[in-house]
Amino acid sequence: MVGGGVIGCSIAYHLARRGATVALFEGREIANGASGASAGGVRQQGRDLRELPLALRSIARWETLAEELDADLEYVRGGHVRLVETADQLETIQPWIDAQVAAGLDLRLVPQSDLPELIPGISPGVLAGTYSPTDGHANATLTTRAFANAAKRLGVAIHTGTRVIGTRRSGERITGVVTGAGEVACDRLVVAAGAWSTAEMARLGVVLPVEVGAPQMILTEPMAPVLRQVLGSAERKLSLKQIRSGQFLIGGGWPGDADLDSGTATPRPSSISGSIADAQAVFAPLSSVAIERVWVGIEAQTPDAIPILGAVPGWDNLDVATGFSGHGFALSPIVGQVISEAIVDGAPSVDLSAFGLDRFAQGADVERPLRIDAG
Ligand SMILES: Cc1cc2nc3c(=O)[nH]c(=O)nc-3n(C[C@H](O)[C@H](O)[C@H](O)COP(=O)(O)OP(=O)(O)OC[C@H]3O[C@@H](n4cnc5c(N)ncnc54)[C@H](O)[C@@H]3O)c2cc1C
Repeated sequence: MVGGGVIGCSIAYHLARRGATVALFEGREIANGASGASAGGVRQQGRDLRELPLALRSIARWETLAEELDADLEYVRGGHVRLVETADQLETIQPWIDAQVAAGLDLRLVPQSDLPELIPGISPGVLAGTYSPTDGHANATLTTRAFANAAKRLGVAIHTGTRVIGTRRSGERITGVVTGAGEVACDRLVVAAGAWSTAEMARLGVVLPVEVGAPQMILTEPMAPVLRQVLGSAERKLSLKQIRSGQFLIGGGWPGDADLDSGTATPRPSSISGSIADAQAVFAPLSSVAIERVWVGIEAQTPDAIPILGAVPGWDNLDVATGFSGHGFALSPIVGQVISEAIVDGAPSVDLSAFGLDRFAQGADVERPLRIDAG
């Protein structure tokens, strides 16, 4: 395994649970990349319809995940409300809701008159909200470490501070990886290196159409508990939640700047002011809140905003899981499960054909989303 983010750690855990012998190499620390920067939204609503079956299955796993991993994940199933503020959006929202309900999601339209009861403090300018009660949020760093610790308990060898710098191959087979600490032979290689996966695969001559995203997060000072749901928006770049400490986490895709080589990312002043203004416009209790910390994460972004999952065409024993495009944390339990099923049993329990790297083959018509929610 290459990569100690939430996806790599989940895959390692699930592979070990199915009896595989696994070594995981992480160049820095567990949860150092996107997973340590994540907003922690655990959401089905607003997914690309190709991704929704995975999200539904994943959220079912979240219900008992803390117990399974024997760790506090700060998971709260408080619901997710996507706010609608323009008459245009409201007029066209019903088919968007219907498509998700038809796919199995519990999603309801809450009219303006009922919003203050559901969300005390909501701005009177909000016209409606689409409410999915089974969505929620969790702590992404704790979850990533919990997968890593559970994997270790099952015998996975986790090597932090150990960057993979090369691969050994024989024809179309990977036979080993090269690290700064030496070489290790392997029967199979899974690359789950987030935005750095492109460089890993390029060494093998595989082109990943993955770009680097740099979404920004704001953490406020703590306040008394006032918000149970995660708030998203049909029109704004917004994801807003109150975490266990009482602090608000504000994100939603406001961009910062990232440098992949150094692994550093920096906020933009205009994104900080824009993000705060968006949150304050819809949720009155934030009108005078102070900012405690701002950071930017480095995320792998695909052209169609859904991940690349599974076996790499042309190779006998190479798999990839990357390109989660700002919403991979929620999927981590099911992605670990289905990749391990594909590798150990030869067949995943969820059809992964929509996520193959081959969808980007030259000349293929990639289905681009109109708008995919962040977080
Ligand atoms: C600011 C922000 C907010 C987000 N909010 C949400 C949200 O609310 N809900 C949600 O579902 N998702 C959210 N996401 C997305 C989610 O966090 C990511 O999709 C997910 O964490 C990706 O995990 P990963 O393991 O694929 O990648 P990463 O966490 O980036 O892990 C990749 C790891 O690979 C390591 N690595 C790279 N190259 C090598 C190498 N050569 N050798 C060894 N190790 C290597 C890196 O050091 C890194 O630790 C958010 C992301 C960001 C950045």
